[in-house]
Amino acid sequence: MSELKIAIQKSGRLSENSHRLLEECGIKFFNGPGVLKTTARNFPVEILFLRDDDIPQYVEQKVADIGILGENMVYEKDKDVRIVEQLGFAQCRLSLAIPKDEVYPGLSYFMNKKVATSYPKLLSDFFRKNEIEAEIEEISGSVEIAPGIGLADAICDIVSSGSTLLTNGLREAETILKSQAVVISNKNLSTEKQDILDKLLFRIRAVKNAKENKYILLNAPEEAIPEICKILPGMKSPTVLPLAKKGWCSLHSVVKEDEFWERINQLKNAGAEGILVISIEKMVL
Ligand code: ATP
Ligand code: MG
Repeated sequence: MSELKIAIQKSGRLSENSHRLLEECGIKFFNGPGVLKTTARNFPVEILFLRDDDIPQYVEQKVADIGILGENMVYEKDKDVRIVEQLGFAQCRLSLAIPKDEVYPGLSYFMNKKVATSYPKLLSDFFRKNEIEAEIEEISGSVEIAPGIGLADAICDIVSSGSTLLTNGLREAETILKSQAVVISNKNLSTEKQDILDKLLFRIRAVKNAKENKYILLNAPEEAIPEICKILPGMKSPTVLPLAKKGWCSLHSVVKEDEFWERINQLKNAGAEGILVISIEKMVL
């Protein structure tokens, strides 16, 4: 029986979340220092630990069948692969940044300037689209230092909070691309491998749904139940159980994590008490 080969980042900002995601999908594997390849004990997958830059090419060439990496790298490498799932972690943006005391008049700032980046394709596409003539200096790391050492006038790099930019005397001027971690797949998987990928994606979606939702339990007087059901529609409809105390019920439902704080006051105003909110481990819709 064949195994699906999954490429994940060996060490870096994506590694921990990629490991955790596979573990939360119930996939058990050994990973120690120096391990570059491992087979899962309880699921037909082989895991390859690689540099994120190499993953698109390896997936195109079928050295790996699928990979987990940032959209930024997928678009930069522009290989013939398919994005099959967005994962929600490693959220960041690819931005142009300039020395913080410079006046920024808009994109014309970059006209005839030299910009250092590890993303030459995305940057040259962006400049071409906006009709900016600028020189691109490709460097592979520590891009933020380039203006400080006279290598370039500005940079184009990954930003999340902007604190690294600030430490290096830079500020964000334009966002080129928003990115998050995704699963990419080779476009010609065998039926057998596609079946394994479908099973894996089913598990990944169950983990993602679980993270985006909370289980909520509360007590309320019977007459408040219709109003509370309107506030908490649930997956199908809320569960309502009688309490030992006459005229009272316990109501169980599921609420989106980001809607929870908005709903809580509405619930209290409707008569809810003793509200408990619990994490969900897996959720299949
Ligand atoms: P490798 O050695 O594998 O080539 P790297 O140094 O090129 O690693 P990392 O810095 O580990 O890359 O970043 C990997 C990916 O994580 C980036 O391509 C991007 O998608 C995402 N990322 C980078 N920086 C951040 C950040 N500050 N916040 C969130 N996500 C980020
Ligand atoms: Mg890299």
